[in-house]
Amino acid sequence: MNAPAETRKFEAEVAQVLHLVTHSLYSHKEIFLRELISNASDACDKLRFESIANPELSAGDSELQIDVSWDPEARTVTVRDNGIGMSRDEVVANIGTIASSGTRRFLEAMSGEQKADARLIGQFGVGFYSAFVVADKVTVITRRADAAADEGVKWASDGKGEYSLEQVASAERGTAVILHLKADEDEFLKRWQLRSLVTRYSDHVAFPIRMPIEKDDKPTDEWETINAASALWTKPKAEISDEDYQSFYKSLGHDFNDALAWSHNRVEGSQSFTTLLYIPSQPPFDLMMGGRDERKGLKLYIKRVFVMDAAEELLPNYLRFVRGVVDADDLPLNVSRELLQQNRQLDRIKGACVKRVLDLIEKLARNEPEKFATFYKAFGNTLKEGISEDANNRERIAKLLRFASTKGDGAAQIVALDDYIGRMPVAQEKIWFITADSYAAALGSPQLEAFKAKGTEVLLMFDRIDEWMLGSLSEYAGKKLQNVAKGELPLDEADKKKQEEATKEAEPLLKKLKELLGDRVGEVKVSARLTDSPSCLALSDYEMAPHLARLLREAGQEMPESKPTLEINPAHALVKRVETEADEAKAGDLATLLLEQAEIAAGAQLPDPAAFVQRMNRVLLG
Ligand code: ADP
Ligand code: MG
Repeated sequence: MNAPAETRKFEAEVAQVLHLVTHSLYSHKEIFLRELISNASDACDKLRFESIANPELSAGDSELQIDVSWDPEARTVTVRDNGIGMSRDEVVANIGTIASSGTRRFLEAMSGEQKADARLIGQFGVGFYSAFVVADKVTVITRRADAAADEGVKWASDGKGEYSLEQVASAERGTAVILHLKADEDEFLKRWQLRSLVTRYSDHVAFPIRMPIEKDDKPTDEWETINAASALWTKPKAEISDEDYQSFYKSLGHDFNDALAWSHNRVEGSQSFTTLLYIPSQPPFDLMMGGRDERKGLKLYIKRVFVMDAAEELLPNYLRFVRGVVDADDLPLNVSRELLQQNRQLDRIKGACVKRVLDLIEKLARNEPEKFATFYKAFGNTLKEGISEDANNRERIAKLLRFASTKGDGAAQIVALDDYIGRMPVAQEKIWFITADSYAAALGSPQLEAFKAKGTEVLLMFDRIDEWMLGSLSEYAGKKLQNVAKGELPLDEADKKKQEEATKEAEPLLKKLKELLGDRVGEVKVSARLTDSPSCLALSDYEMAPHLARLLREAGQEMPESKPTLEINPAHALVKRVETEADEAKAGDLATLLLEQAEIAAGAQLPDPAAFVQRMNRVLLG
């Protein structure tokens, strides 16, 4: 079969990625080698796996390896593997197109702010395209393991917008990526330089990486293996240094920053497996941007053979930031993704992964506060998803959460539920909190006033996910969590009496307000929450916080109109003015403003902002 030679244009997005990559990765340009070796290693992994069902694929050339060579005259660096290779269609699909929706979102995120952050790109794992940081032309020659010898494919591009494709008659199995170096990149034509990069970044790639031996400054035909070429996770922990762990982490791809922490364990028994799990030090770009459909980064091996990327099968969603390797001894090698999802052994392994990760985070919280803070900043909100997703570990996860508090350190989210409970007076039964849009809005909530006056600590929650999370966290360590803006406040006998008297006294006022406000409120009550402000909203236990309702409405969701309960402070001068104002229209303005300021403080949306402004101006001008 002969396919014609042709020239094609990159998808617009590829051109964009190429542009971003070449401009922003410049200070990290040496990572191209790691990315290409990582791809070569993936290709060898895939061939090894496919050969189990189909041994012919690797017949005649079964030593899988990766060769890195340089040619000082041609000014090229070549990374070659004898792995799975690519068909013509795969070349087009994998390196001419951007298939992943994650990449599209990434581009959308980047295009707003032209400043492409190199770290961001690193987390996004731009892979193959990093070749263009050092090369002004890249040639790929590849043949898929199951294709005939004359069905090789040659792809070439200067990375500017087009690439050429042609068939090659005699290609070896696997892929060679040939970089034609830019004029000022001669440093990569030196053996020691290439070699030190391999040692630094790719030592623990599980396949031999070979380089030609040098003589008289020139490469010879003799090759030597230059990496450890053993699967790192199979070695005893005592023989592995921190640098080894970090370099292996980076060779997994997806991140070129150091990992924050890791956990390496071997389980022996009726079912044996090894886990090596890493927590990154920064979130990947799409973690919160709904990065749910792409879960890469946890590789499943069975007896040292890579089987598949199985992040989804091995970790719950709320731990999707974890990277690493799971190597199981007792799973069948021909396991498919469908079978894997029903596999009972896998449930055990998954349980062990979750336990290890939570252990690791707990250890950070206990012993390494700075690292824990880094972790929490990056992944705290992701972890919160576990409160509803993982009921079995709810208490453990809740223990790890940190919040701002009226007795904390400003907006810093550092107060644990256990800290709170430790400070609770004996008589206090509940853990009090408030949710709002921001720290300032939470701290300024009028509903806090009575708590402040009494010196009762209140947790201040202002991350978007909090309100949702709290739906699944009604209790911790036997204590109820209660929103200060919801339901009835527990009052002691004296306060209850005062409250009853105040309500009785205010009866005509309450009636007047209800009449003036009509349909806009459900009820008007005397508040036990207020000391300084004239009014606030109170919600029933099941009502959604107004700021959240607003957000959901803005996001296009239909929200039922709810009629809030307005609580007032009869001692406040403004409330007194409503009481004494004889002019019906003026009293109506004042009453409505009492409601509207309560709504604004709660982050609700005013139904008619222009009317509010006019009303306020009328009152100001008397
Ligand atoms: P990633 O490795 O994260 O998938 P890359 O940009 O590094 O992204 O590679 C894109 C795709 O190109 C790979 O997923 C793979 O399908 C293909 N590819 C790249 N290099 C090779 C190779 N040496 N052998 C086979 N396929 C490759
Ligand atoms: Mg890659």
